[in-house]
Amino acid sequence: MTELRWQLADDGGGQGALFDDVLERHVGSGEFRGMEFLHVNAKRIINELPQSSGLPFRYTINAYRGCSHACIFCFARPTHEYLGLNAGEDFERKIVVKVNAVERLRAELVPARWAGDPIAMGTNTDPYQRCEGKYRLTRGIVEVLGEAANPFSILTKSTLILRDLDVLIEAAARTDVHTSFSIGTLDEEVWRSSEPGTPHPRRRVEAVAKLNAAGIPCGVLVAPVLPGISDRPDQLEAVVQACVEAGATSISPIVLHLRPGVREQFMPWLERAHPELLDEYRGLYPRSYAPRVVQDRVSSIVARLVAKHGGVAPTPSRERQTPRDATPKPTGSAQLSLMPPVR
Ligand code: SF4
Repeated sequence: MTELRWQLADDGGGQGALFDDVLERHVGSGEFRGMEFLHVNAKRIINELPQSSGLPFRYTINAYRGCSHACIFCFARPTHEYLGLNAGEDFERKIVVKVNAVERLRAELVPARWAGDPIAMGTNTDPYQRCEGKYRLTRGIVEVLGEAANPFSILTKSTLILRDLDVLIEAAARTDVHTSFSIGTLDEEVWRSSEPGTPHPRRRVEAVAKLNAAGIPCGVLVAPVLPGISDRPDQLEAVVQACVEAGATSISPIVLHLRPGVREQFMPWLERAHPELLDEYRGLYPRSYAPRVVQDRVSSIVARLVAKHGGVAPTPSRERQTPRDATPKPTGSAQLSLMPPVR
């Protein structure tokens, strides 16, 4: 493990380092076979973003680095390289676990040092990825934030969030709690191919309904929309209609963007899964973001569909917290894992 470049790791946009040495390395078994969990002690757990980030939140918490959801377009993949790990299989199978996250948070929320600003989770990797089922760090964080009446938001693709409905409800009784699901498509084939480790999108829609029914506001990022793969009007209508019916408090689309480091993972996948689209994507993505005309087209379709089905119009505010799916740059888009190296 000493080969891991911890001293170079940056958990928060250049604020210096983040972990002590790896405490333990756990090889996964059973449902976690083929995975490794690298236990570290975070030096701090609340991450402050630089003012220049342009994101609608300033403070984040990320208890994990790497994500077993293994989305091929994941924006967070390159952040694994700061650790001397790779953005491909290592990102999906070698998960850094900040085992002291809850205890650090308690220490950092001391009123003398903390002003009570809103904190966003899910801004880099998924706080409810599979291993949260055994580490329960996100649950502990929600409990501590609730006890402190500190406002927070969560973006996830995982129905595991429903396990914590009890503590979310308790927290929401004391402070502002917002949740968002990322549901890029209901197309079964696209989902299986591009997000192989995530819960079925229909189960996610059900989770949106359950959260809202429980009084926890939950919006949806239709993200990322993949040009030529999941952007047909009928595909968009399926997901928008389902989310409106689930009571989503907001529905906003985000067209795929391919930053350096993500592109190297995505394009080989595209060549295998949709070779006929290779040239089109090369033309669409000379840079990280799809052309404005493509983004405007998708936004327009989704806005029309939301109105058609009686949903709540997209808002640029905190519910659209952009996280892993989104980066608020050019047009306020991003894609899960959404942002620059943060978690
Ligand atoms: S996009 Fe989100 S859910 Fe998918 S691998 Fe990245 S962090 Fe995990």
